[in-house]
Amino acid sequence: MNIAEIAEALNGKLMNCKESFMVNGINTDSRKVKSGELFIPIKGPNFDGHDFIYKAMDAGACAAISHNYLNAANFPYILVEDTQAALMRLASYYRSKFNIPAVAVTGSSGKTTTKEMIASVLGESFQVLKNEGNLNNTIGLPMTVFRMEKHHTICVFEMGMNKPGEIESLASIVKPDVGIITNVGTAHIEFLGSRENILKAKKEIFTYFTVNNTAIINGDDDMLASIHDLPCKIIKYGINNENDLSAKDVKQRGDEGMEFTLNINGNAEPFFVPLIGVHNVYNALCSIAVGLTMKMEIEKIKKGLARFIPGKMRMEIFSSKNGIRVINDSYNANPDSVSAAIEVLRNMSCRGRRVLILADMMELGEYSEIGHRKVGEKAVQSKVDILITIGEKVKDIRQGALDNDMKEENIYCFSSNNDAISNLRKILMPYDTVLIKGSRIMKLEEIADSLRERG
Ligand code: ATP
Ligand code: MG
Repeated sequence: MNIAEIAEALNGKLMNCKESFMVNGINTDSRKVKSGELFIPIKGPNFDGHDFIYKAMDAGACAAISHNYLNAANFPYILVEDTQAALMRLASYYRSKFNIPAVAVTGSSGKTTTKEMIASVLGESFQVLKNEGNLNNTIGLPMTVFRMEKHHTICVFEMGMNKPGEIESLASIVKPDVGIITNVGTAHIEFLGSRENILKAKKEIFTYFTVNNTAIINGDDDMLASIHDLPCKIIKYGINNENDLSAKDVKQRGDEGMEFTLNINGNAEPFFVPLIGVHNVYNALCSIAVGLTMKMEIEKIKKGLARFIPGKMRMEIFSSKNGIRVINDSYNANPDSVSAAIEVLRNMSCRGRRVLILADMMELGEYSEIGHRKVGEKAVQSKVDILITIGEKVKDIRQGALDNDMKEENIYCFSSNNDAISNLRKILMPYDTVLIKGSRIMKLEEIADSLRERG
């Protein structure tokens, strides 16, 4: 895109620019700006990117966008009302240049994993653009759109939100052909108030849907099962209920992953996904539904799924030097994903004890106490032998476990990761299977790393 075209797309005023020129890329981070890029400053809770416009220009940016006049500027810039809105609008404009299908994934848990599985499946037949890691918000998603190039033939986007309207604005950029909701849980309930509101916010992914679109939803989720009122084709997947895609014979293959069969066109087709946990069968089913929607051959779908490479800190299994088996699921946590992970621990064949290391779950608001207590209850029901908690909010997990008759001597509470690390050696024993999980901010990978390094 050239700068005049961008200014026009943004309905902005191009300042200090005698002659239009090409822009090499877009950047919102002044520390990472590369030569020839357009710098878009964003106002965040702690910093205002506008304070770094001059730095970005010094670092080689060819121009900037700004919401106020820059009196001292001797460089080209585009004056707009709102730079965040401009970023979204520009992404939307750029996206419209590419006539390729888009798949969008939202849901309370499993978005990144499902997005990666979908990309792995589609990769067998398409040139896939996907958002890297977890870049799923109103900055990450537009920035991913700007990576779209001529050789791409399909794109897959994860869409995250913590307030109503966000998914709609992401959907307005991408205009997805296929929209997915993995589940409706309690993540971010602090800002949304209820599961009904969460469902409503997730359904914004279908805002622009017509008969030509496809909605892929988890038919075993009580909230999603009730969705019938969309103008498009609906594919429901699951294990427990009869769905359009219903997995049968679900089995864990050692520590390697999950096997299941699916009835497709009257044939029982075997599938394998290299990640343990029944919740990952759901994620896999979703990716198969996308492959089928995109008319891929079943053999290619199978191959793509079997080649899936699990993300870091998600159900990563390793043995420590002194024979402790560790399941590192420390990427993030909410009551539903912790419950899914405890289910994995319960179903593992273990030589020794089942040990759960849990840290605080964030953004639960009024639901925090009950959410943590329920996890404690789930731990007891799932025959966890030792419970180790790190943080403050986890005191309610402890209480939930005690209320369900877990013995006090089997519960250890620490205030910090360092505190836990220096005591774990005394608590853990060879043959223990240890599951590690907590909200991102709790950085429980520090625990996993210490077990990897020291045992
Ligand atoms: P975030 O909100 O951080 O972007 P996410 O929705 O992208 O999270 P993932 O990163 O894929 O979710 O997975 C996070 C954790 O959620 C996993 O480690 C796993 O414990 C759990 N999880 C993954 N898939 C599911 C699922 N389908 N149902 C319930 N829990 C799941
Ligand atoms: Mg994610």
